Amino acid sequence: MDLHLSPDERTFRDSLRSWLAANVPAGWEAQRLESTMEERFTFLRQWQKRVFDGGWAGVAWPQAFGGRGATLMEQVIFTQEMARAGAPPLANVLGLAIIGPTIIHFGTDAQKKRYLANILSGDEIWCQGFSEPNAGSDLANLRTEARRDGDHYIVNGQKVWTSYGWAADWCALVTRSEPGTQKHKGLSYMLVDMKSKGVEVRPLRQMTGESEFTELFFHDVRVPADNVLGKPGDGWNVALGTLAHERATLGVSAQIAIRRQIDRLIEIVGAQPQAKDPIVRQKVAQAYVENEVVRLNHIRAVSKIMQTGAPGPEQSILKINWSESNQRFQAAAQEILGPYAQLTAGSSLAIDAGAFSYSYLRSRGNTIEAGTSEIQRNIVGQHVLGLPKSY
Ligand SMILES: Cc1cc2nc3c(=O)[nH]c(=O)nc-3n(C[C@H](O)[C@H](O)[C@H](O)COP(=O)(O)OP(=O)(O)OC[C@H]3O[C@@H](n4cnc5c(N)ncnc54)[C@H](O)[C@@H]3O)c2cc1C
Repeated sequence: MDLHLSPDERTFRDSLRSWLAANVPAGWEAQRLESTMEERFTFLRQWQKRVFDGGWAGVAWPQAFGGRGATLMEQVIFTQEMARAGAPPLANVLGLAIIGPTIIHFGTDAQKKRYLANILSGDEIWCQGFSEPNAGSDLANLRTEARRDGDHYIVNGQKVWTSYGWAADWCALVTRSEPGTQKHKGLSYMLVDMKSKGVEVRPLRQMTGESEFTELFFHDVRVPADNVLGKPGDGWNVALGTLAHERATLGVSAQIAIRRQIDRLIEIVGAQPQAKDPIVRQKVAQAYVENEVVRLNHIRAVSKIMQTGAPGPEQSILKINWSESNQRFQAAAQEILGPYAQLTAGSSLAIDAGAFSYSYLRSRGNTIEAGTSEIQRNIVGQHVLGLPKSY
């Protein structure tokens, strides 16, 4: 694996750098934690539109679908340069990273034409309706029912922990469409308009104080049969594609966000006598080392996708690494910075408007979202190490 940039990749990076230098809104981060989730989201949508108009959204998506047709490595450079420039993230996280690529892979021409451009521009925001109260790790246990009725399905059931459910225009919904089937058989992956009659969204409050995710209830929701992605009854395979993308892509932005916080911690601590405390030095250096492991593992994962065309079970190694190392780093940052780091946005004494407090609390979800650490270890055990399947 060659870790150096090729001449084309350097040209790509330099052109992006110039664009970011001219376009990243100044001072946006300082206002971030002080504004409401909805205000932030409106701002992120406008930012995504600017990135799209500049021709930088969906860097690795084929040009035929509005992307730039760049390589996956250039996609990685894009993410790295966005972080380096301190640019805001793009609003349509799940659409861009997970659901769009799944539509590219499994969609009909009509579906690609209908959905992909609006994902890139951020005109339509997507959420992912997979988990249910009794189907999280054991996703194949899901019960949300889709009953065929002429050229529609009638959907009834409940989803939970749906990130962006409050903002979404569309939902990638996995349903049980063949009555009497069990587990991964008889599921269908549907593209559901969140404005359909019978869709109810209820916010769920997290310990950060935000309601980033929601419960979704479906009461006799009519979904056109044309909105099934992939073959009806083959939703498990389509969902597996989505999950692999989720594990592969979440890690990139997480690694860079964590690195930025490590740099900020070093900046704060470097100016204090604590910088000479041997325990503090050990913890900061350890956080840096773990973050480098995530970065290099990510490059390895990208190389693998470039060779095979699809993310593989090794993505689980990446997921375990970034989520668990972030929890260790956030705990270390709290110990090093002391009680002021626990103050949240709104307190004049909070460090960086409560950024460390927020990240500490938010990091608890990292080992649960996109599949828990235990499930990732099961995948590594079975698909990487060749151990027998767990029950
Ligand atoms: C921040 C956040 C955002 C999320 N966003 C979304 C979203 O947008 N869309 C969506 O559909 N879902 C979303 N989720 C839900 C997430 O996918 C589930 O929470 C996750 O899959 C775990 O399922 P569960 O909560 O039902 O826990 P359970 O599956 O009930 O697990 C409970 C515990 O048992 C362990 N366990 C379960 N099975 C095994 C096993 N076979 N071997 C060993 N241990 C096991 C688990 O690791 C866990 O510790 C989100 C979750 C979080 C925290």
